[in-house]
Amino acid sequence: MVRVRFAPSPTGHLHIGGARTALFNWLYAKNNNGKFILRIEDTDRTRSTEEYIDSIIEGMKWLNLDWDEGPYRQTDRFNIYREYTEKLLNEGKAYYCYCSPEELDQRRKEAMTQGKPQKYNGLCRNSKQPLSGRKPAVRFKMPYEGETAVSDLIKGSIVFENTQLDDLIIMRSDGTPTYNFTVVVDDVDMRITHVIRGDDHLNNTPKQIHIYNALGYKVPIFAHLPMILGSDKTRLSKRHGATSVIAYKEMGYLPEALVNYLVRLGWSYGNQEVFTRDELIQHFSFDNVGKSAAVFNPEKLLWLNSQYIIKSEPQNLVELVMPFLKKENIIKEGQTIDKEWLSKAIITLQERSKTITELADSLRYYISEDIEYDLKAKEKYLNKKNLDNLIESKEALKTLDNFTAPEIEKVFMSIVEKQGIKLGNIAQPVRVAITGRTESPGIFEVLQIAGKEKTLRRLEKAIEIINKS
Ligand code: GLU
Repeated sequence: MVRVRFAPSPTGHLHIGGARTALFNWLYAKNNNGKFILRIEDTDRTRSTEEYIDSIIEGMKWLNLDWDEGPYRQTDRFNIYREYTEKLLNEGKAYYCYCSPEELDQRRKEAMTQGKPQKYNGLCRNSKQPLSGRKPAVRFKMPYEGETAVSDLIKGSIVFENTQLDDLIIMRSDGTPTYNFTVVVDDVDMRITHVIRGDDHLNNTPKQIHIYNALGYKVPIFAHLPMILGSDKTRLSKRHGATSVIAYKEMGYLPEALVNYLVRLGWSYGNQEVFTRDELIQHFSFDNVGKSAAVFNPEKLLWLNSQYIIKSEPQNLVELVMPFLKKENIIKEGQTIDKEWLSKAIITLQERSKTITELADSLRYYISEDIEYDLKAKEKYLNKKNLDNLIESKEALKTLDNFTAPEIEKVFMSIVEKQGIKLGNIAQPVRVAITGRTESPGIFEVLQIAGKEKTLRRLEKAIEIINKS
């Protein structure tokens, strides 16, 4: 049975890199009918916050990465770490260390000036004498000789010299466990079979391998994912734009689009770019995860998002856009809205909206009572030159009972013919009068969706503006 885990430290929001790690774990579990476990590594109490824990969970839920077990929290598990420490002490695989921080510091400085490796000198490893009056830390006995091979599903086999290893502290003198130890204890206790994580953890892996061995647990299979870089090939950071998953939610991205984008950061399946969730589950494997770093490309993500919006069912977009309409006060508190009408309005905008935020913004002119004019558009089109055409359109539309796009088109075409003008001469000022902008879906559709009453009212207002100017 495959058992994998995502183990974020809640020292920040769920970011793009973390979400990709979570996704690869999730897909691997699903692909193998295994279990996906969420574990919050919150032992660094100074940097971990409840807010970040909530935000990570919100991000995971939004991306639809559901977990089978957890969320476990390391701060709830101190007894377990203590038990495992006792076990290692009893078996002689760990020892008490009475060296004080000052002594260690002093020795480190000496080693540095002598150009020697700054490792623990093994003093307490050999002397079994407790020092009274000092609370000891617990150190793990690392091998000093030989090599440790990490066999990795992505990187292949990597060999580390054991002389590089140090007798690391697993339990501080204040009784708190340390990072490399808690990770391994949890992986053992949670019976993890595959460790899938960012390759920034690769250097920890040899140390951890010895701890798995000491605990008598079969070393899990590792898959260290290559880094994600920004466009300038440096490690992805805020400098490259939004990096938190929640920011993408707030910017109006669809979770499916982000998932589809994330999976392609490192994984490929022929030339296919767009995948359903089922296809991802079916095709995912580490054979197709590349060795080199992936470059985050926000434009491509935006393009993918627009593709997902085009493919979405309008009813689905109604639900997605609602919170944005409310947040932007486009739908006022207590205002009800006909969802069927809204979904028709959305159909006219689907091809032109790259994000849900853009969609909400365009819906503003269908929904709002008051119209906001783009200043340039107003100047260019709501002027004396267009007054007669606007009046004529208003009068003609007033008589129209069947206020549908084809009928509206007929009205416009007959004015065009009568006046010997181009459609644009009349459509553009009307467009600005109705939407406040120079760009919108087809004008006849726009008028139909806006409806007769709103259309006439806005034309009147435009006429009034011109008359007053
Ligand atoms: N807590 C670690 C992190 O957030 C991950 C540890 C692991 O996956 O082994 O980077």
